[in-house]
Amino acid sequence: MKTFATFPLLALLVLLATPLQAQQSFVSIGTGGVTGVYYAAGGAICRLINKDRAKHGLRCSVESTGGSVYNLNTLRRGELDFGVAQSDWQYHAGKGSSSFQPAGADKTLRAVFSLHPEPFTVLARKEAAIQNFTDLKGKRFNVGNPGSGHRASLQELLDAMGWKLSDFSLASELKADEHGAALCDNKIDGFFYSVGHPSANIQDPTTTCGAKMVPLTGRVIDKLVADHPYYARASIPAGLYANNPQATATYGVLATVVTSSKVPDATVYALVKAVFDNFEAFKRLHPAFAQLKPQDMIKDGLSAPLHDGARKYYREKGWLR
Ligand code: GLU
Repeated sequence: MKTFATFPLLALLVLLATPLQAQQSFVSIGTGGVTGVYYAAGGAICRLINKDRAKHGLRCSVESTGGSVYNLNTLRRGELDFGVAQSDWQYHAGKGSSSFQPAGADKTLRAVFSLHPEPFTVLARKEAAIQNFTDLKGKRFNVGNPGSGHRASLQELLDAMGWKLSDFSLASELKADEHGAALCDNKIDGFFYSVGHPSANIQDPTTTCGAKMVPLTGRVIDKLVADHPYYARASIPAGLYANNPQATATYGVLATVVTSSKVPDATVYALVKAVFDNFEAFKRLHPAFAQLKPQDMIKDGLSAPLHDGARKYYREKGWLR
């Protein structure tokens, strides 16, 4: 009885709601694991977009994904509107180089802005007494899940060193959300990750089991940084994490937000406006964003052409001519 009685009312509500819903467009941002910084970045961007939903009619949702390479491939197929991607993999996807060679250059790839630096971060069990990356030979090492940016960047490092995955006694492919617990549970001796700092994902194992940062320095790395425009030297600050009072020298990339030329100008404009009109609020949404400056974000780490919708906003602001 109740079903019959409520149905006409429901039907009426649905009818009334339809015109409103029809004006709404959905946008999705592909990120990384939920304990990383990409997921927090996507969440921060969506929050600011959704705040003004009544004005632009966009509803933004954040997706946890396998990471940079997954996001770039999925964006190319038109299954995501935006993605967060490391600057090295933005470069390779746009140029069709490195592991993107078989797929060829993605001519539809567009840059939106860059975010925080992502120093390549190697963490090892305290008991493994690892001083340098080469000490990891023959050890159980988490190389990361396929589709992640760090997995692909580690491969470039191993190639430059002349190492194979078989140089580790175990090359596990755990996701970043799992590597901290695996380290403290003595299932692996170390892991490689490319992430903004501070990251919850590094805080956990350094606090729980005293995991140690391992520097990435030496001749091979000097050459990698000299030869590739997307790499730069980096340092993880002293004392940022428990049990790691020393600064850690390494190298790394930038996190960037990318989209496709197929995404409408108005959508990209609304995203950049949401971030830069509320920039102080945006920076407060994650400590890794504290040092960001708009003038750097619209050029550093971007190798794909800027999307026209982003360019329009940057011109209005006088940041671009
Ligand atoms: N840099 C990692 C990747 O490209 C993700 C880091 C994060 O989630 O913050 O897969």
